[in-house]
Amino acid sequence: MFKKTVKILFLIFILSAVSLNVIISAESNLYKGPAPKYVFLFIGDGMALPQVSSAEIYASALKNNKYPETPRYLSFTKFEAQGFTTTHDASSFITDSASAGTAIACGYKTLNGVISMDIGKKIKYKTIAEELKEKGMKVGIVTSVSIDHATPAVFYAKVPSRSMMYEIALQLAESGFDYFGGGSVIDPDGKKSKMDNKPGNVFDYAKSKGYKITKTKEEFMKLKSGSGKVWAVTEMPADAQSMLYEVDRSKDVLSLADFTAKGIELLDNPKGFFMMVEGGKIDWACHANDGLSAIIDVYAFDDAVKIAVEFAQKHPKETLIIVTGDHECGGMTVGFAGTKYDTAFQKLQKQKISYVKFEEKINELKKEKPDLKLDEIKDIITEYFGLTFKGDKSDMDLTEYEIKLLQDAFDETIKDKKERSKSSESYIAYGEYDPLTVTITHVLNRKAGIGWTTYSHTGTPVPTYAKGVGAGVFDGYYDNTDIYKKIVLILKIKKSY
Ligand SMILES: [Zn+2]
Repeated sequence: MFKKTVKILFLIFILSAVSLNVIISAESNLYKGPAPKYVFLFIGDGMALPQVSSAEIYASALKNNKYPETPRYLSFTKFEAQGFTTTHDASSFITDSASAGTAIACGYKTLNGVISMDIGKKIKYKTIAEELKEKGMKVGIVTSVSIDHATPAVFYAKVPSRSMMYEIALQLAESGFDYFGGGSVIDPDGKKSKMDNKPGNVFDYAKSKGYKITKTKEEFMKLKSGSGKVWAVTEMPADAQSMLYEVDRSKDVLSLADFTAKGIELLDNPKGFFMMVEGGKIDWACHANDGLSAIIDVYAFDDAVKIAVEFAQKHPKETLIIVTGDHECGGMTVGFAGTKYDTAFQKLQKQKISYVKFEEKINELKKEKPDLKLDEIKDIITEYFGLTFKGDKSDMDLTEYEIKLLQDAFDETIKDKKERSKSSESYIAYGEYDPLTVTITHVLNRKAGIGWTTYSHTGTPVPTYAKGVGAGVFDGYYDNTDIYKKIVLILKIKKSY
């Protein structure tokens, strides 16, 4: 009798689990709940699982735990909904940020380099940001790279080529969106543009379209709800008009989180808002194979996500937060031939500056002394990367093989750029980066157990995380164009999908 009861109870349990599962998967295909009032879309450029995991492993390694553990250090890896997203574009398994961004912002596959237009470069797609603006929501676009860069551009511009930076910036001014924040622009006066009848400087043009522009921290701090349409530019434009790498930023310089918090302050209104925030320099650090700079920029990105999470705690029934990457970059991985089954991420903490800042220092030294020798810069390599030349086989000491790699790279670095080797071997060794700097980060990263395969993007899927109203729709395995379609579904935008 007892056995029979247990059997029946077990059967009931199985059946209810199966039916619950059916309900959950049905719900994830068709969301019928209320539309969220506040929508955050965070895009970690070049951020796939290796970048996310490395950031968590590094945090764990710094705790010097005896055994490995990967607690959820990042806010978004704790989100209730998680999925995987395929990233191929219309012509390649390896997408760039323009075609990946177009897929996310418009729901269509296009070609590398194309901003929110079709593969024939004729049709201009309506973006999710434009759809939501039409719905009455306010719209904000924030990025740590230049605001005319591919990922932010796909939300407000439509051009056949991402390199049309001037045209993109003009379309920013014409978008009518409520807030732009972060990096500056590459071609403010249209010097590289082939456009006829240029309307002049893009900042002046934006002013004529009603934008208030801030370029200092002081002006930025004065912005408040009711300031009208705002275009806020970092007070310290760095490489390619981007914000500083987080590893190089002093605390008093505005962060990605500051631009996100200001966005909330400016956009909050009874009809709600949509804000896209891009962590763009995760990608740039991965292109350069600089693991520490990438990891620290993942933390800066997460700090921005945390601002949205705090906001969601105040508006739990009205907020949706989506965090995704547009593609992987660098072929980054946890593990290297030289370190076999071990990692030593704590070694990365010896790196004090980004590859960009180090290259600047080398260039200054080269200018001062054209016949510079590797011997003369060993001290600064030790100072900024912790790598030593003692020959004592200690933890951070360079092996003979590693010193040879540095010497070969230095011999290229010291040459004029035009005289450097153009061989494919040289490209595999250094990409288009400063040979010495990229070799230093390679050596340090390998000692830590991080491997790199390329200076470009790769074709692996990326993780997507979601929290809040409608988040369950983001569970599962789907394509990057589905991110657009899922937002359309949750926001109840009428579309023929
Ligand atoms: Zn990239």
